[in-house]
Amino acid sequence: MTDGVERTVVVAGAVCHEGRLLAARRTAPAALAGRWELPGGKVEPGESPEHALTRELREELGIETEPLERLPGEWQLNGRLVLRAWEVRLLKGEAQPLQDHDAVRWLTSEQAFDVDWLEQDIPFVRDVVARLRSY
Ligand code: C5P
Repeated sequence: MTDGVERTVVVAGAVCHEGRLLAARRTAPAALAGRWELPGGKVEPGESPEHALTRELREELGIETEPLERLPGEWQLNGRLVLRAWEVRLLKGEAQPLQDHDAVRWLTSEQAFDVDWLEQDIPFVRDVVARLRSY
């Protein structure tokens, strides 16, 4: 970026396992509570996005994961936050809503749009669902 504004990256993980995509339901802030997202969070200063994603998925859902590749595109959340997403592989653990979420679902490609996704996550979901179908 060339305008001198420090931007924080929010990383989101499209965790795929056995042809399903993991969705998590947010509990906060109030405006987003009840909406579904690709789980993740903010990259900390000095941290790589892949490390942040692995850390957030461990903290929030208790799963061990490996980021595979970045999904195309990004979404400017506001002047300072930009959302990027990765396709992620589940290595170990059973996803549970430990922090920031109150429910998780493993969606097949047919169910992928049954939940009320945050709008900005939808292009990433679309992209990864096309990949799920090719598994
Ligand atoms: O999870 P956290 O609250 O740290 O994320 C910061 C912001 O990023 C949220 O308020 C939300 O607007 C956005 N976000 C998003 N899609 C995601 C994860 C986070 O839009 N999958």
